[in-house]
Amino acid sequence: MPLKLYNTLTRKKDIFKPIHDKKVGMYVCGPTVYYYAHIGNFRAYVFADTLRRVLKFNGLKIKQVMNLTDVGHLTGDGDEGEDKIEKEAKKERKTPEEIADFYAKKFFEDFDKLNNEKPEIICKATEHIKDMIQLIKRLEEKGLTYIGKNGNVYFDTSKLKDYGKLANLKLDKLKSGARIKVDEDKKNSRDFVLWFVEKGSKYKGHLLKWDSPWGEGWPGWHIECSAMSIKYLGEQFDIHTGGEDHIPVHHTNEIAQSEGATGKKPWVKIWMHNSFLQFNSEKMSKSKGGILKLQDLLDKSYSPMNLRYFYLSGHYKKPLNFTFKNLDNAKTTYQRLKNIISEIKEDKKINKTYLKEFENSMNDDLNTPKALQVLWKLVRDKKTKGKLKTIKKMDEIFGLDLLKKEEIKIPEEVSNLVKERENARKRKDWEMADELRNKINKLGYVVNDTKEGVIVKKND
Ligand code: AMP
Ligand code: ZN
Repeated sequence: MPLKLYNTLTRKKDIFKPIHDKKVGMYVCGPTVYYYAHIGNFRAYVFADTLRRVLKFNGLKIKQVMNLTDVGHLTGDGDEGEDKIEKEAKKERKTPEEIADFYAKKFFEDFDKLNNEKPEIICKATEHIKDMIQLIKRLEEKGLTYIGKNGNVYFDTSKLKDYGKLANLKLDKLKSGARIKVDEDKKNSRDFVLWFVEKGSKYKGHLLKWDSPWGEGWPGWHIECSAMSIKYLGEQFDIHTGGEDHIPVHHTNEIAQSEGATGKKPWVKIWMHNSFLQFNSEKMSKSKGGILKLQDLLDKSYSPMNLRYFYLSGHYKKPLNFTFKNLDNAKTTYQRLKNIISEIKEDKKINKTYLKEFENSMNDDLNTPKALQVLWKLVRDKKTKGKLKTIKKMDEIFGLDLLKKEEIKIPEEVSNLVKERENARKRKDWEMADELRNKINKLGYVVNDTKEGVIVKKND
């Protein structure tokens, strides 16, 4: 089955064909590194990683770019509020660079633990200010910008006929919009800042600022992604991803800027968006409170792979409800799967029937829950051959360490009981040995006596 991906722009599953032969250019909106990323954010990155792995599985070569937003993202997500990084820097009494470096490091620690493959290019906004200024100049030359009363440079959305096409925005509604306040600096509520000028800002003493043709200041959040993606992937590229919250503003504005500057349409062929990880029935987000970090789960003795399994058990376009009960289910199921796989004997062939079924599920817009069902069918199939090799191949996409031998930390209490049981067996005291086995079971572990010696595992 050809690879089909749901495209937010066309509102259907499109058959994926790269622009350049077998090479794929892919841009992932990266984190704003002002705080720890939460497990909602990581749903977006595990989704992008799964997409990357599916593309590779289809024989394509990937150039994936991910940005780090270390300036310009305001607390209001639009043109209002304080720069998130600067605000945190003041709070923690550190420099904005220290804040960005610290949280970027933390982000990648979790990113790696979750088995996400590193994008080919990771780029920081603050290292691409020149590219942003150049892009704004191109927009200015085309008459698509204006200077607000506050001195900021705005994108004039009235100049683009198809502004809002990604989100299918009803523009008239927006104009008189009850939700969006028109501020006195811009002509239209949906216009947005390309360059903030310090002079006009409510937040004086901005630490991150650069010279520009419009005055000292800093870039808007949206221009960062346009400038960096065009720089590394060219004026038209294949896929752009992010969470669904980015559709109406951030990605809509990225399209306006990029297509406005280059005149080439569509700028991006396929737009893909993951749905939210929900917590207490709302999107998990820092501003709404109640976030969980990967470390919080590790502290409660869940593993990163328990979380990855949990993410993959839902389709990326459907909301996923986080509860500890749901995570417990994923943990138990994953552990059971690993235990079964650990008993499968090595053999050389791949089972093509199962692999095809798996590939069809993944190629159908990354249907990971279906692909997991295929995996389970395979591991439970008593007659089939070539299990291990097939599972290994499937894990190239799942990224679940399915064949990795687990180093389980056995509590001292359990290992002492195992030793005592060994001694009892040596004395041929079978009654005592059985009693000790029961004690071990009660603590959640099982002992297996094999030719190679005693194996202790977690009980599923
Ligand atoms: P941010 O650092 O806020 O720019 O977010 C990083 C990524 O996480 C973006 O792609 C967001 O759309 C995504 N995201 C934020 N919250 C959630 C959530 N609760 N579930 C899934 N994705 C999310
Ligand atoms: Zn972006």
